[in-house]
Amino acid sequence: MIPARALLGAFMVFIAAAPFILPEFHVALLNYIALATMVSLGLVLLTGVAGVMSFGQQVFAGIAAYATALITTKYGGSPWIGLLLALALVAVVALFLGAITLRLSGHYLPISTIAWGIAIYFMFGNLELFGKYTGLPDVPRLAGPLATYYVIWAATLALLLASANLLDSRAGRAIRALRFRAVMAESFGVDVLRLKNIVFLYAALFAGLSGWLYAHYLRFVSPSAFNVNAGIDYLFMAVIGGASHVWGAVIGASILIFLKEYLKGLVPSGLGASGNYEIVVFGVLMMLLLHRASGGLAPVLSRWTVRRGRRRIALEAPTLPRRAQPGPGSALLEVKKAAKRFGGLVAVRELSFDMRAGEILGLIGPNGAGKSTMFNLITGVLPAEGGEIAFRGERIDGLPPREIARRGIARTFQHVNLVGTMTVLENVAIGAHLRGGRGTLRAMLHAERAEEAQLLAEAARQVERVGLSAQLHDAAGSLPLGQQRLVEIARALSADPTLLLLDEPAAGLRYAEKQALAALLRRLRGEGMSILLVEHDMEFVMGLVDRLVVMDFGEKLAEGLPGAVQANPAVVEAYLGGVE
Ligand code: ADP
Ligand code: MG
Repeated sequence: MIPARALLGAFMVFIAAAPFILPEFHVALLNYIALATMVSLGLVLLTGVAGVMSFGQQVFAGIAAYATALITTKYGGSPWIGLLLALALVAVVALFLGAITLRLSGHYLPISTIAWGIAIYFMFGNLELFGKYTGLPDVPRLAGPLATYYVIWAATLALLLASANLLDSRAGRAIRALRFRAVMAESFGVDVLRLKNIVFLYAALFAGLSGWLYAHYLRFVSPSAFNVNAGIDYLFMAVIGGASHVWGAVIGASILIFLKEYLKGLVPSGLGASGNYEIVVFGVLMMLLLHRASGGLAPVLSRWTVRRGRRRIALEAPTLPRRAQPGPGSALLEVKKAAKRFGGLVAVRELSFDMRAGEILGLIGPNGAGKSTMFNLITGVLPAEGGEIAFRGERIDGLPPREIARRGIARTFQHVNLVGTMTVLENVAIGAHLRGGRGTLRAMLHAERAEEAQLLAEAARQVERVGLSAQLHDAAGSLPLGQQRLVEIARALSADPTLLLLDEPAAGLRYAEKQALAALLRRLRGEGMSILLVEHDMEFVMGLVDRLVVMDFGEKLAEGLPGAVQANPAVVEAYLGGVE
């Protein structure tokens, strides 16, 4: 085991010393590696972490390279003016492309990235202004070769650091939830589409910075560096390096560039023939590598390293402000004739019920009765198809989940909706997303640490409340299912909700854990929280709730005090009788 910091230190020393110990050819390769790292680092964030596949990052590098080449060679501008204009242009194009493509789902998005990649390549190649396929020569250099090398690597390391900072922040937790847990993120206040656009913009700017440096390093731009093959290479680098790891970008870029360079020399001589055989060998090597390490190389490497101790949580950080809660007994939730169908199946049929502040209302019914669908209607995850839902006197049906969350409704999911690779603490901190406000830029600079300490302290307190302090730094996905449900509850509590929606929280818990959970829910009610509870364990429900609503086939079968409902013959027949 090597300490991660030592490895990082050794890498920095190597980068600093390389120009003095390596032949010029290798130093040039290092420059190319750094330039490629910047682009593939954008892809790590965009594709590996946020789950947005792009084959078109070379376009942004190309736009920046051409912009600065034109400005410096044809209009006499300095490279620094070139940088400003190049990045501004990249930002405009990225915001435009993002706005029209990031709404696309499934395969349409990657395909559209290929389309714009091809379009831009031919634009570079065919326009007189861009020097057609011969390109633009005589781009001025930034500095001497040695200084340029250091500028390129300083920029690369700065982006690596900023990206690592970003992922370890409020905004970063939201980004890490985008890929597999977008519905959950939206339910805790994350504007998923906006955040995807932001990550897309950063990835484009990273590529743009690389393109600008490339133009002034090579002193020449031509379309061939920005064709679709280049875009595929960048994606490849991110994937073989480890697409969800910041350092995967460096590893991937190094391997791809070195291998290509060496295979070019080795393979033809070995085969005794000329031709692009190295591409074939390269392809086979990559397939073998991905077969052995499907998550890329960074996770393999991190198995050999130990990280410094866990981040200390500043429990003394000032507590986050809490929202004003409604007076006990006031009208809280009014559901009027809510309806939802899936094709021909009516999941919720004109269901009406009310909740008052400070009560625990049980929503019970056989499997498939429509309880979870009702949760999804209240929280906006599914649009209601009729009826009205009001929260604290305000219509909420039709609002997106994040707006409903903002009004004070937090939920758990029946099918546990955690980011398995994130720690318990980080998952729970997502619940407090709306109680912070610092965005991506501050996160990159680590200039949001005071707020971050508050958010993490709050999350740690909620983890303690559900009895999982010992698992605080464990990956949430490694916990047994019952405990994952408790993490879900802690995450909802981090939102400081007025109304807590719990979908089968006790499923998978052991008896003692159920009792602890019941005690916690009673305590929460004592503090004035209102809870809507879906649960199958009747003993758990009956001992806890103030009132019950019974659903069957999407309709309300009965409503009232637990004792009365339990004695209701229709309920006994439809539900309780069937189960016991
Ligand atoms: P409950 O939570 O009471 O067990 P649900 O609300 O999950 O019931 O489901 C109600 C009915 O709607 C079931 O018949 C279920 O199969 C169906 N259903 C739920 N979600 C979907 C969906 N996304 N698409 C199609 N059918 C669904
Ligand atoms: Mg359900």
